[in-house]
Amino acid sequence: MSVIDSLKRPEHTGENRCLPCTAVNVALVVLVGLAVSVLSPLVGFVVLVGGALAVYLRGYVVPGTPSFAPRVVSALGLAGYFDHGVDAPDRRSESLDANVDPDVMLSTLLNAGVLVEEEDGLFLADDAREEWESTMATLRKTTDEELAEAVANAVPFEATVDAEFGGISLDGPSMSVWISRPQAIADVATLYTVVERGVDPMVALAATEPMRMFTEVCPDCGGAVEETTTRNCCGGTAGLYDSPEHEVLGCADCGAVVYEFPDE
Ligand SMILES: [Zn+2]
Repeated sequence: MSVIDSLKRPEHTGENRCLPCTAVNVALVVLVGLAVSVLSPLVGFVVLVGGALAVYLRGYVVPGTPSFAPRVVSALGLAGYFDHGVDAPDRRSESLDANVDPDVMLSTLLNAGVLVEEEDGLFLADDAREEWESTMATLRKTTDEELAEAVANAVPFEATVDAEFGGISLDGPSMSVWISRPQAIADVATLYTVVERGVDPMVALAATEPMRMFTEVCPDCGGAVEETTTRNCCGGTAGLYDSPEHEVLGCADCGAVVYEFPDE
């Protein structure tokens, strides 16, 4: 590993680079560099070059940038200038939904052995988790188009499903939603796993969002899922999420948001 490689922070550079973070850091580096140049042109030059290099290699140089830069940019009314384009996951994922009483859904999942109730709460049954996760692992290998087809086959109604904006858009008789790729993978796996245990497909559909609470492995990349906030997903707060502290289950590796905890 070269010195350059060891300085690199892939989680904040390349396609993960957050434009608001980069812009705010470049602006700060230039300001500091110019200020120092007044005292010593040589030191100022070193600050400019060193700072620019650090931003290039590491994504940002000022500690804590991901937590404040998107807010600075959006407070300045500049968030619109940092549009990530159609491929970036800058859309908020919606959820598949069905008009099913949550209590009915819960008792159905318990009776079918998908969930088990223990003293300290509800858990996903071991065999259900095994099947759920292995279905996700299979779906992980699909292209967006193949995943769209899997969604169309899994939902219990006729729907037009397309790969769009890096995720899946679904247009059905009672809903029109866009779901991110990680959520679509988890939801299709839920539909298969739950319906196979004799649950009514509409109840299974209602279970897709709550089931994502039990995710331990990222549906999209297989990385570890942890409780975090959208604030820590660099750039995730650039105008899309109203609250920078939104609690989510997110992937530590790819930054995918798998489940959003409801606002208190
Ligand atoms: Zn991931």
